[in-house]
Amino acid sequence: MKVLKFGGSSVADAVNMEKVVAIIRNKIKEDHVVLVVSAMGGVTDQLLQAGRLAAQADDSYKTMLQELENRHFTAIRILIPIQQQSSLLSTVKQQFNELEGICDGVYLLKELSDRTQDRIVSFGEILSSLIISARFKSEDIDQYWLDARALIVTDATHTKAVVDFTATNERITQSFGNNPHRLYISPGFIGATPSGHTTTLGRGGSDYTAAIYAAALNVDVVEIWTDVSGMMTADPRLVPAAKPIARISYQEAMELSHFGAKIIYPPTIQPVMNKKIPVWIKNTFQPQDEGTLIENQAAQSNDFIRGISSVNSISLLSLEGSGMVGIPGFSKRLFEALAQEQVNVILITQSSSEHSICVGINESDTLKAKRAVDTAFSYEIQTGRVDPLIVETHLSVVALVGDQMKSHPGVSGRMFGTLGRNGINVRAIAQGSSERNISAVIAARDVKKAINVLHETFFENSYKQLNVFVAGVGNVGSKLLAQILQQQSYLQEQLNIQLRVVGIANSKQMLVNEQGIDLAQWSTSLKDAVPASIQDFVELIREKNLRNSVFVDVTASDKVATVYKRLLEKSISVVACNKIACSSSYKDYQELKSLARSYNALFLFETNVGAGLPIIGTLNDLMRSGDRINKIQAVLSGTLNFVFNHYDGTIPFAQVVRKAQEEGYTEPDPRLDLGGTDVMRKIMILAREAGEQLEMEEVKNNYFLPASCFEGSVDEFYQEMERQEAHFYSLYKAAAAEGAKLKFVATYEQGEARVGLEHIQPESDFYHLYGKDNLVLFFTNRYPEQPLVIKGAGAGADVTASGIFADIIRVASI
Ligand code: ADP
Ligand code: ASP
Ligand code: MG
Repeated sequence: MKVLKFGGSSVADAVNMEKVVAIIRNKIKEDHVVLVVSAMGGVTDQLLQAGRLAAQADDSYKTMLQELENRHFTAIRILIPIQQQSSLLSTVKQQFNELEGICDGVYLLKELSDRTQDRIVSFGEILSSLIISARFKSEDIDQYWLDARALIVTDATHTKAVVDFTATNERITQSFGNNPHRLYISPGFIGATPSGHTTTLGRGGSDYTAAIYAAALNVDVVEIWTDVSGMMTADPRLVPAAKPIARISYQEAMELSHFGAKIIYPPTIQPVMNKKIPVWIKNTFQPQDEGTLIENQAAQSNDFIRGISSVNSISLLSLEGSGMVGIPGFSKRLFEALAQEQVNVILITQSSSEHSICVGINESDTLKAKRAVDTAFSYEIQTGRVDPLIVETHLSVVALVGDQMKSHPGVSGRMFGTLGRNGINVRAIAQGSSERNISAVIAARDVKKAINVLHETFFENSYKQLNVFVAGVGNVGSKLLAQILQQQSYLQEQLNIQLRVVGIANSKQMLVNEQGIDLAQWSTSLKDAVPASIQDFVELIREKNLRNSVFVDVTASDKVATVYKRLLEKSISVVACNKIACSSSYKDYQELKSLARSYNALFLFETNVGAGLPIIGTLNDLMRSGDRINKIQAVLSGTLNFVFNHYDGTIPFAQVVRKAQEEGYTEPDPRLDLGGTDVMRKIMILAREAGEQLEMEEVKNNYFLPASCFEGSVDEFYQEMERQEAHFYSLYKAAAAEGAKLKFVATYEQGEARVGLEHIQPESDFYHLYGKDNLVLFFTNRYPEQPLVIKGAGAGADVTASGIFADIIRVASI
C-alpha cells in the first residue's frame, strides 16, 4: 500500500485536480492507495479570514463564503459528469449551509474560539476530498471516503492538536480491515478529540496526515505531491538558483523543515522515520521529474551541506544576570516557564560564562514569553540577581543543514566569513550537538541576501553574482554599459562571474530591475523610469540589500561623491571614476578607505588617474610588496598634452583648446584641466596612495594661465584666451628656442607635490609623448635609476570605461 498526499496547489482548480486524478489512476493499477488531499489552494486562508471578519462583526464574510461556494461549484461542474452532479452539489451546498451557520454564530457572538476556528477551516479539506472522491466514483473506481475526524484522535490543543498515536493507529487499522479497497480518499489536516470536536494539526498539516496513515498502515512508501520538483537546496522563492536535492536523510529533512523549509510540515517525518518508510517529494505539474527521496540514510554527495533554510518572525530572549553563574536550575526554570505557556523554542544558545541564556522563539509568542519568564524569575529580578528578560524582535534564523557537516571542518568559518563579507551581522549562533546544523540569528531584512550568499558559497561553485548599480550615463557611463553588455557571457563562461546591472540612474531618474536590466535597451527604459534623486537611488540600493553589490560612480558630481560612506558601511563596494571623493580632505579620503576595510568592501578608483592605465593598481602592488616610492613624475592631463602637442602658434591657442573640448578630452569647464586643478588632484591621489598625508592646498601649482582667464563663464574664458594669444605664443617660443617642448608635468618628491609647465628636452622620457597620452614614472627602491614606466592613452570614454569595468571585476574577488 502507498500513501499519496496532494497539496493545495495540486487541487487548486478542476484543471489541476484532473492531473491528480490521472496520477492516481495509474498508481492504483499497481497498488492500494490512500489519497490525502489538502483544501483547494488558498481556501484555508480564506476560511480563516472569513472567521475573523465574522468575529469582528464585519459581514463581508458572507461574500467570502459565497465566493468559496462558487469556486467549489465551478470545479464540480467541470470535473463531474452532468448527470451525477446534483447529489454532490447538494452535499456541498449542505456543507456551506453548515459553515455559514457557524460563521453567523461567530458574527452574533463576536467571538471566535480556537475550537470554532478549527471547525471553520476543516471544511476546506472536507470539501476538496469529497469532490475528488465523487470524481473517482463517477469513473466507477472502487474508492472509499474516509472521515479523518473519525480516525485521527488528538488532544484539544486546537489549531495545533497533538495526535494520540495509540488510539489513532488502532482506529485506522480497524477501519481498513483485512480486505481493503483499492483507493481511499481522506481529507488532510484534520482530526478530532475523543469527544468528537474537530481539531486541526497545524498549518501545512496535511503532510502529517499522510504520515499518520502511513505509519499506522505500515505502507511501503509515502509520496508528497506538490508544486516543486522536490526538496530544494533552498527555498526557490528566495533563491532562484536553488536545485532539487536527490536524496536526503530523515534527520536532514526534519532539520530543514524545522528551520522553515515549508515544503514539508516538520512533524511529518517522525512517524515515517520510526517505521523507516521512504518518502518521495514529487511535482504534480512535472511528474516525470525525479523528485526527492527522504530515507533513513541518504547517500553521500559532493555537497556536504544538504540545504539552507530560514525562519522569519523570530524573537530572541536573553536571560542574563550575575546571580545565574554557577547555580544550577536557571535554564530548567526558563524552559519550564516557556513550556507552560506553550511557547515553542526554536533555538538555544548559552554563553560559556553561564551568565546568559539566549533562546529564539516565534515573534507571536513574545509577549506571552516575556510575561511568563519575568513572573517565574520575579524574586531574582527584585533582588537584582537576574535582569528582566531582554527581548529583541524582527529577527530571522538561517540554518545550514547536512549530515556530512561533522566530517568537514571549517563549515562555520565559511558560513560566518560569507555573512561578514556581505555586511550581515550575526546576533546569535547555535550548533546542534549532532553537528547536523548550524544556525545563525540575523536581522529579518538580511535574510534574502544571507540565504543567497550562503547558497552561492556552498552550492554554486559555478558562479558568483555581481549586482551593479551605475550612477551617471554620460559618455563614459554609456560606454561602460555597452562594454558590460558585450562581455556578460564571456564573464559567465570564462570567469564564472554573473555580472548584472541592477540599477541605472542619471541626475533625474532611476531604473531598477532586480533580475538585471536589459542592457540592449537601457536608454529607452531609463526615459520611462521613475524620477529619483541620487539619495533615493542610494536608499534603494541599501534597501535591496543584494549580495555582492557594487556602486559605480561615473559622474563628476560632488553630490554623488558624498554617498559613498552610506554605501560602504553597508558593505557595498564603490567604484569611482569621479575624483572628488579621493581629492577632498585627507580625512574624508582616509575615512572611506578605512570604512571599506572594516566592512569588507572595496573602494576602487583606478580611473581617477590616467583613465584605464593601470597606475594606481601598480602603485598599490609596489607598496604591498614592500617597495617604497621615492619620486613620481608624470604627465597626467590628456587635455594639456593634446593642447601643447597641437599648439605651435599657427592656430590660435583658444582654438586648439576648443578642439580638445569638441573631441571630448576636457572637463565641461576646460579651466579645470588648463588651470592644472585636475592634474593637482591626480598627483595628490598618487601621493596619498604612496602613503603621503597631503591636502590640495599643499600641492604647488605654477599657473601658466593668466589670472584673468579664471574669471567669468566658459564662453568668456574662450574670449579671454583669444585676447591672451601673445602670452601663449611667448610660452611656446621660449621652449622652442631651447629645442624643447612644453609639457604640463606633475611631480611628487620628498613629501611634496607640484605641478606646472616645463620645458622638456629631447632626451627626456616625456619628449615623445603624443596625442592625449599620459606617462607616469615611478622611482622606487626597486626602480632607483630607471623608473617603472606606464604610458598610454590617459583620456577617452572607451579606455576610462574599461578601467572602471576592470575595477568592477576586482570586486568579484572578495
Ligand atoms: P503544498 O500546498 O503542496 O503543501 P507548500 O506550499 O506547503 O505546498 O510547499 C511547497 C512550497 O514550499 C514550494 O512551492 C516552495 O515555494 C516552498 N519551499 C520552501 N522551502 C523549500 C525547499 N527547501 N525546497 C522546496 N520548496 C520549498
Ligand atoms: N490546508 C491546510 C493549510 O493550508 C493544510 C495543508 O495544506 O497542508 O495549512
Ligand atoms: Mg504544505
